[in-house]
Amino acid sequence: MTPLAGKVIWALGVVGWFLIRYPHDRRSRRTPRLTRRDRAREIVLMAISATGLLLLPLVYVFGDQPHFANYPVQAWQPWLGAVIFAAALWLFRGTHKDLGRNWSVTLEVREQHTLVTSGVYSRVRHPMYAAFWLWALAQAVLLPNWIAGPAGLVGFGTLFALRVGHEEQLMLETFGEEYRRYMARTSRILPGVY
Ligand code: SAH
Repeated sequence: MTPLAGKVIWALGVVGWFLIRYPHDRRSRRTPRLTRRDRAREIVLMAISATGLLLLPLVYVFGDQPHFANYPVQAWQPWLGAVIFAAALWLFRGTHKDLGRNWSVTLEVREQHTLVTSGVYSRVRHPMYAAFWLWALAQAVLLPNWIAGPAGLVGFGTLFALRVGHEEQLMLETFGEEYRRYMARTSRILPGVY
């Protein structure tokens, strides 16, 4: 068993991710915003996340570095990784469909922002971040390298840990009681657990 299958599946997953995002990214640039929160901090967090989810795995997939951290791949890894990445893409697509024009890559409030509480948002408040966690998990399973594999969990985990409270605060300031009630009946990323 070579690491090639896992590398190819990881690369396909990432390409699929950006194909899903592309039209939303374009529309987002044209959607007027009301507020932008923690801009500098957000850019640093995104850079940390991108290092773990893209930069380090790309160096491994195309340059086979850091070589010392390679380990022998197990036959189940590409299969399990493919299933997890497919689930990530499915959820990611759903979040973009449901959030529509309310989506932004960093913390922002749109001019005509509406609170979305249906579809994939009906049971968890952060399904898009749940999809990113699934990507990071798929990466850890797909890439048999002790640095490039878990890098996504560390990188995205940092962004998630330092952003999610600020985002909920921003939503509370914007939607008040409506968001408080939504918080009371939902979990953050895993229904009924967290
Ligand atoms: N945390 C959410 C959304 C990520 S996109 C998720 O993981 O699915 C980030 C932007 O979405 C934030 O700037 C915020 O303005 C907006 N947002 C977050 N939750 C929202 C909701 N339930 N309805 C509408 N906009 C929301």
